[in-house]
Amino acid sequence: MAYKLTLIPGDGIGPEVVQAAKRCVEATGIKIDWELALAGADAWEKYGDLLPKETLDSIKRNKIALKGPIITPVGTGFRSVNVAIRQSLDLFACVRPVKSYAGINTPFKDIDLVIIRENSEDLYAGIEFKEGEATTNQLIATLENLQPKKIKPDSGISIKPISRSASRRIVEFAFEYALKNRRKKVTCVHKANIMKFTDGLFLEVAREVSTKYADRIIFEDVIVDNLAMQLVKQPQNFDCLVLPNLYGDIISDLAAGLIGGLGVAAGANIGEGIAVFEAVHGAAPKYAGKNKVNPTAMILSAVLMLRYIGEEKAAERLERAISLVLAEGKFVTYDLKPHRDDPTAVGTSQMADAIIDKLKSLG
Ligand code: NAD
Repeated sequence: MAYKLTLIPGDGIGPEVVQAAKRCVEATGIKIDWELALAGADAWEKYGDLLPKETLDSIKRNKIALKGPIITPVGTGFRSVNVAIRQSLDLFACVRPVKSYAGINTPFKDIDLVIIRENSEDLYAGIEFKEGEATTNQLIATLENLQPKKIKPDSGISIKPISRSASRRIVEFAFEYALKNRRKKVTCVHKANIMKFTDGLFLEVAREVSTKYADRIIFEDVIVDNLAMQLVKQPQNFDCLVLPNLYGDIISDLAAGLIGGLGVAAGANIGEGIAVFEAVHGAAPKYAGKNKVNPTAMILSAVLMLRYIGEEKAAERLERAISLVLAEGKFVTYDLKPHRDDPTAVGTSQMADAIIDKLKSLG
């Protein structure tokens, strides 16, 4: 029987990379009945809503979605459609594997780590106070009443909530992920030396949870700035990183850079029995409709999706086909060529064709 899954093309470069990923998944032979759902520019045109209820309902019904990136136009009421999807569906864990593939020109080799980012709170909670507004002045006055430090009256304020329950949920997820994926170590990333009651709480919970797994998984912690330095010196030292939301976002891009850039960085947003698979990159509007960008990140996100639904063999074959095309370096997009203006670079759909051909040759 076919799987019924939600397909969200998104906007910008979304539709072209999603189409490439869809074709690659179909070429594995796995039968999928795709339910098309709109979000972003197309949804705005059809429903006057960037994130229609129909789309959220489709994901809730099918439990799994493959999603393209979405631009968030300024002044539409959404801070980010992508963040709204994660929050509405309580997709609390963002999983981003960071893996070296042969053929990609980067000074770093043999990286194989995974970033597990808390997706629901921290500075992404969207609790902000604009400089000069009455509520902001009120908040400043209240804060000055509650503690001795002064706050400049012309400040804007963003709130960073980090809870024990959400921290526990993400750290437990990270340890369970490590066990299931035969990983050896979990590193908790924080800035607890400065933010004692938020990052400090995150670390306290991580230490607590780690004791349950002490006989099977090594636990360590590292301060986020130190991690940034260590990642560019010895990325091979890391295995499974668990981070609060903002650090997770920043370190994901840094890690994507280590393995060749946003064109190859895949991801998944996972909740209780529900998951949305999407690349780390955004909608890169300047490349939209040009058949130019790298579809690998989106196709690797589809590989994660195949693994999630239990189609390990198909996932492995597709990943192998991708890695062979990357290793040959012939039918790859501009970003993977030694020079960005290399005339031998192929387009998005041609790279997908090469992956599909390779998949067929694997039998
Ligand atoms: P971006 O990731 O869209 O693009 C930054 C640059 O990275 C591009 O200019 C391009 O040089 C490179 N790049 C990105 N994807 C690539 C690919 N597949 N192949 C080759 N090169 C690639 O980031 P941005 O410019 O900060 O954001 C653009 C829009 O995307 C914004 O509206 C932002 O809100 C949105 N966004 C969406 C998501 C998401 O849907 N999850 C994530 C990040 C940003």
